[in-house]
Amino acid sequence: MPSAISHAAVAAAAGIAFAPQGVPTRFWPLALICSILPDADIMAFAFGIPYHHYFGHRGFFHSLFFALILSLFVTSLFFREEMLFSGKWFFYTIFFFSLTASHGILDAFTNGGLGIALFSPLNNERYFFPWTPIAVSPIGIKAFLSKWGWFVLKSEFMWVWLPAFILAVVSTAIRKVIVRF
Ligand SMILES: [Zn+2]
Repeated sequence: MPSAISHAAVAAAAGIAFAPQGVPTRFWPLALICSILPDADIMAFAFGIPYHHYFGHRGFFHSLFFALILSLFVTSLFFREEMLFSGKWFFYTIFFFSLTASHGILDAFTNGGLGIALFSPLNNERYFFPWTPIAVSPIGIKAFLSKWGWFVLKSEFMWVWLPAFILAVVSTAIRKVIVRF
């Protein structure tokens, strides 16, 4: 995985870029949670479920299908006031889907560990993109505070934070221009 901070940076930038004005405050923590939640599957290790297992790390919980389930769950539970299939309902569902999916997709750009089961449960093969510029993040805080952690942070800064920051700045500028005219 890129570290949780980097997935959260994507959530923050996507929210700034795409959230309509006046979204309820709960939108923001939910966005962060969706971007990070797939990595809750590292708990599988504690239960003796191996990495390559269906429910192992980077398995089903990193898939596009899980992203769809989670987005439908979040929208129907936390945005109940939105009518089913209304414009806002679609916005929240697509937004939370894209954020959760962005997690597995970003992981597929990392250079280590096992690949991502993006198409689970239809196909449980683990995938990487052919180009993997992001240094894989170590699992666990202790390893993260090592030299490896510093190397990972530098690579995430370059490939995740910087593009996220640019997205946030450019979209804010575009919004200001749109409001003005
Ligand atoms: Zn992950």
